[in-house]
Amino acid sequence: MAAAYGVRLIEDAVEGSSCPRCGYACAPAIPRCPACGGTAVAARFDPTGRVWSATDVALSVAAFGPGTLSYVDLDGGPRVLVRGTRPPAAPGTRVRLVASESGMEVEPCR
Ligand SMILES: [Zn+2]
Repeated sequence: MAAAYGVRLIEDAVEGSSCPRCGYACAPAIPRCPACGGTAVAARFDPTGRVWSATDVALSVAAFGPGTLSYVDLDGGPRVLVRGTRPPAAPGTRVRLVASESGMEVEPCR
C-alpha cells in the first residue's frame, strides 16, 4: 500500500469512490458526491491512464520537492495527482501508477 496526496494503491488498484447516481469518480475516496450530493460508494480503479498535465516543482514545499507532479486521467476512473517522472511526461503519455519509496509515482507504460 502506498499513498501520495491521499491516493492509495492497494493490490495494484487505485482506491477511491464513485457515485451510483451520476457516476462521478474520485480518488482518494470521499463520502459524498460533489456533483450531485449523492452517497458515494467504495470503488477501485485501474492504475493505468494518460497524463493530463505535469510540471516540475523547483522549490521544497512542506513534505514535497523539488520534484515532478503529474495529473493522470485513470482509465475508467478519476483524475489523480501523483509524483511524476523527470523530466515530466508529456500530456497524453500512457503511464502506470506504481508504489515507490517516496509514496507513489508514475512510470511510462511499455
Ligand atoms: Zn453524483
